[in-house]
Amino acid sequence: MYDIIIIGAGPAGMTAALYGARAGKKVLLVEKEFPGGQIVNSPLVENYPALPGINGADFALQLQEQVTALGVEITYTEAGSLEKQGDFFRVNGDDALQAPAVILATGVHHRGLGLENEEALVGAGISFCAVCDGAFYRDRTATVIGGGDTALQDAVYLSALCKKVYVVHRREAFRAAQALVKKARSKSNIEFVTPYVPLRYLTRDGVICGLEAEHKEDGSLRTLETDGIFLAVGQSPDLAFAADLAPLTPQGYAAAGEDCRSHVPGLFIAGDCRDKQVRQLTTAVGDGAVAATLACEYIDSIDSLENN
Ligand code: NAP
Repeated sequence: MYDIIIIGAGPAGMTAALYGARAGKKVLLVEKEFPGGQIVNSPLVENYPALPGINGADFALQLQEQVTALGVEITYTEAGSLEKQGDFFRVNGDDALQAPAVILATGVHHRGLGLENEEALVGAGISFCAVCDGAFYRDRTATVIGGGDTALQDAVYLSALCKKVYVVHRREAFRAAQALVKKARSKSNIEFVTPYVPLRYLTRDGVICGLEAEHKEDGSLRTLETDGIFLAVGQSPDLAFAADLAPLTPQGYAAAGEDCRSHVPGLFIAGDCRDKQVRQLTTAVGDGAVAATLACEYIDSIDSLENN
């Protein structure tokens, strides 16, 4: 039996674990893949206070070491269900995975464009992670699709490896931080292809060799020769398993305010999977701290009720 089960070992979940363990609670992290979440794909985190230029994977590893040194356990399994009976939550119907407080910190996963053959081409020229797969395109041509922070960060990272990088975005304006846009524009081997909407992946022998895109205003077509395509068109949360307890927005995020409380006592939502406006590393760790602090208060309040 645990005091707090945290589902998702990204920055929000691991920060929650840190706060819970330091408050003397028995904490379990449930993670389906690897600790760190999406930040491990960030080559350079430039906006985390007092750690300018830290590598995302290093950040994740240091945080993991910090929480495990405090006695936090990590179990590697996918949360497929969450139920509440009396004062206790149970994950996957497993009696070993029970606690009076649960923090959902499952983050988000990468979205695709839904173009023909896309799924089959993942790993055959289509990637979601420039840091993981960029080296395959050394001295070759890569194309990044999207106009957010991920796309521009990927483009800058790839520009150091690749001969040429295209950034294909459906608008002239970029939603990415302007500092990042400026940095990308300063790279002589990055070409911006805007406003173009991707239409079709082109392949040779089952592997990406190009992208056909359509000008959003005049409908003209452009064919880009490219060896790799990095999709950076946003993300979606993975919370269907908890939807019976935590109401989801139409976009699939869990509704909870800045105090991270859901409407179910003892259930908290932290990080990118929470319905909120700003999704950053800093706001994820902030959520983790808030959710764990209030989860500890909640546990102490039910303990004192039971002892009276
Ligand atoms: P995002 O901000 O949601 O941007 C997705 C981009 O993909 C947008 O430019 C969007 O275009 C485009 N897009 C979406 N659907 C499309 C489609 N069907 N066809 C073509 N283009 C499409 O996603 P993100 O860049 O992954 O960032 C997610 C969150 O993480 C953001 O809050 C971001 O600030 C944060 N983040 C922060 C950092 C950092 O702190 N350094 C790094 C990475 C990410 P429109 O602009 O036209 O909608």
